[in-house]
Amino acid sequence: MSGHPNQDPVLGPVVVSSDDLAHRIDELGAEITADYADRAPLLVGVLKGAAMFMADLSRAIALPVEFDFMAVASYGSATRTSGVVRILKDLDVDLSNRDVIIVEDIVDSGLTLAYLRKNLAHRGPRSLEICALLVKDGLQRSDLDLRYVGFRIPPAFVVGYGLDVAERYRNLDAVHEYLGPEPA
Ligand code: 5GP
Repeated sequence: MSGHPNQDPVLGPVVVSSDDLAHRIDELGAEITADYADRAPLLVGVLKGAAMFMADLSRAIALPVEFDFMAVASYGSATRTSGVVRILKDLDVDLSNRDVIIVEDIVDSGLTLAYLRKNLAHRGPRSLEICALLVKDGLQRSDLDLRYVGFRIPPAFVVGYGLDVAERYRNLDAVHEYLGPEPA
């Protein structure tokens, strides 16, 4: 069936296995737990791709975390972001004096995160850090300052564990290379 890792011809090799994801996310959770001891960080997930990561990461943090979500769209094609970002769903909560951690699925050029960080920084949080599951090797802006990174991966297009092509493949439990035609 299409979407099943063993039978879908556009699904390439596993880039990060589900065991490796689980193990690394536990480590990130422990790091955040230590860094934010006695605080109640607000996790801001970037929809939709970070939904799986947010669910697993939050359960690996032994602190009273709170959740919020943003949805953004960047102008440009599905595989190339332009850096001009439109907010489709804004946060529900006020950030003043909060310890905010942006939870992002994947960083390619870094333009989306650069925009988000700047936008949220203007809302008066006490602290603002980024936790990105996957970072593609390449030409990110050096000022992105990613505090927590799950994996650095080669610059191929990937799907699974929240990441999609035309809304498909988000439910795969591993991150795979995508071998299909470039999404429009
Ligand atoms: P950036 O602004 O860093 O270039 O792109 C970030 C956004 O582009 C991610 O949040 C994600 O939505 C999308 N993206 C970048 N690379 C990939 C990829 O390999 N696979 C998928 N499915 N989305 C990607």
